[in-house]
Amino acid sequence: FKDGRLYITVFSVLSQPSTKLFIDGKFVESKSPEWLDIHNPATNEVIGRVPKATHEEMLAAVDSCSRAYHTWSETSILARQQIFLRYQQLIKDNIKELAKLITLEQGKTLADAEGDVFRGLQVVEHTCSITSLMLGETLPSITKDMDTYTYRLPIGVCAGITPFNFPAMIPLWMFPMGMVCGNTYLLKPSERVPGCAMLLAKLLQDAGAPDGTLNIIHGQHDAVNFICDHPAIKAISFVGSNQAGEYIYERGSKNGKRVQSNMGAKNHGVVMPDANKENTLNQLVGAAFGAAGQRCMALSTAVLVGEARNWLPELVERAKGLRVNAGDQPGADVGPLISPQAKQRVNSLIQSGVDEGAKVLLDGRNVKVKGYENGNFVGPTIISNVTPDMKCYTEEIFGPVLVVLEADSLDDAIKMVNKNPYGNGTAIFTTNGAAARKYTHEVDVGQIGVNVPIPVPLPMFSFTGSRGSFRGDTNFYGKQGIQFYTQIKTVTSQWKAEDATLKSPAVTMPT
Ligand code: NAD
Repeated sequence: FKDGRLYITVFSVLSQPSTKLFIDGKFVESKSPEWLDIHNPATNEVIGRVPKATHEEMLAAVDSCSRAYHTWSETSILARQQIFLRYQQLIKDNIKELAKLITLEQGKTLADAEGDVFRGLQVVEHTCSITSLMLGETLPSITKDMDTYTYRLPIGVCAGITPFNFPAMIPLWMFPMGMVCGNTYLLKPSERVPGCAMLLAKLLQDAGAPDGTLNIIHGQHDAVNFICDHPAIKAISFVGSNQAGEYIYERGSKNGKRVQSNMGAKNHGVVMPDANKENTLNQLVGAAFGAAGQRCMALSTAVLVGEARNWLPELVERAKGLRVNAGDQPGADVGPLISPQAKQRVNSLIQSGVDEGAKVLLDGRNVKVKGYENGNFVGPTIISNVTPDMKCYTEEIFGPVLVVLEADSLDDAIKMVNKNPYGNGTAIFTTNGAAARKYTHEVDVGQIGVNVPIPVPLPMFSFTGSRGSFRGDTNFYGKQGIQFYTQIKTVTSQWKAEDATLKSPAVTMPT
């Protein structure tokens, strides 16, 4: 029996699927001696492993990008457009498969995982308009016989570093935008959820992307440092925590690269007493607890203005109705957190609220999910009587926890939002247009919803962010994304008629 158990253990370790690297058009097994386990957050079982790519493997990946750039950057824009037209169809055809991988590795519910793919797919669809998006500008006759025009051209090898919470959407904010502009791309997905990025790469290859136009490496700090330091990489797109994002912004910029860095959040939902109560409470609960609060746009903070503070008991009742379960179980509303460490961190932030005098009106810390006792579950939690100095307010919790503050007036609510260090997203719930206008004009936040709880912009606009939520000056996707992934060349040309030949050298500055 002992031998039998030993055999099973060894077999299960060997049989874990290993995540491949994607180098020069091939899915290859890493030779790395260092591997990380991938867990199913609903059970904590090991479901696979991912390598920390070796230095040689990372060099091979970036060299492949550099070689491919010579031909890809010269490929006609129509040919690139055709590849992305095929790609969007392949993503649609495989949306269920992609969603299953997301639920397995990340934990979110299957319906929400499909939403994750769908919001990324919209960016791919948008890249298919590249023939309009990349147009330059012209101004004829700026002086006699002289015209000026600009081209938008790719910049070279670009790199993306992505977080665990949107395994499809965030990689799809990056490499399709970069590649359709004529750049080649090196992606380092989150080491906790690499599976979806690998399937996205396979589909891109099936759509006809030439070898080397997309390469994928895996790892943690060494891979990030490699990207920040390698001279062939011209631009880095990062989405994730402040700790990593500020570091990457500084190290990458110091090395002369363009860096766009989307980071953490503490998003306020301001509830005016004139709001449509039914809608507002449902929207607040959905946006606070959907994806177990692991969205950078989760409404994690409610600010109840004036009489709206009386809505708290109903808010709690609605949150109680959500079903906590493994993401692949029918009817699940709230899945597990990504790791036991994340669960422990969220629980301790809830406790910090208690210790500092807040009131836990709904406590999800001891939630039990039948059949998934080892999962990283925390149930919906609502903490009231929170003040802006408490740790549960100053820190991003990134879990299914709604902290509730009160304000006497809209002005007080605006002051509170602007005093918070983050500026990612916010929403106001009101039926008063003047209040909505005042709010949207006066808050210093990137994404603002008016009766829209999670205002993630569609790809014809850009995903922005201000203050502590963003470093850089050019945002993700939309026109700003095209700007980030291109450089401008300005041509001034003169075609004079023969009789207008210069009679002597012109030594003064042309005016
Ligand atoms: P994370 O910062 O831990 O990881 C993101 C990436 O950075 C990963 O690829 C990881 O390998 C790497 N990394 C992690 N720590 C690092 C370090 N110290 N130095 C260098 N690289 C490091 O983030 P996460 O936990 O995967 O994602 C959650 C965070 O992402 C939250 O703070 C959330 O608000 C934020 N987020 C922001 C947006 C946005 O658009 N603003 C969107 C999604 C997520």
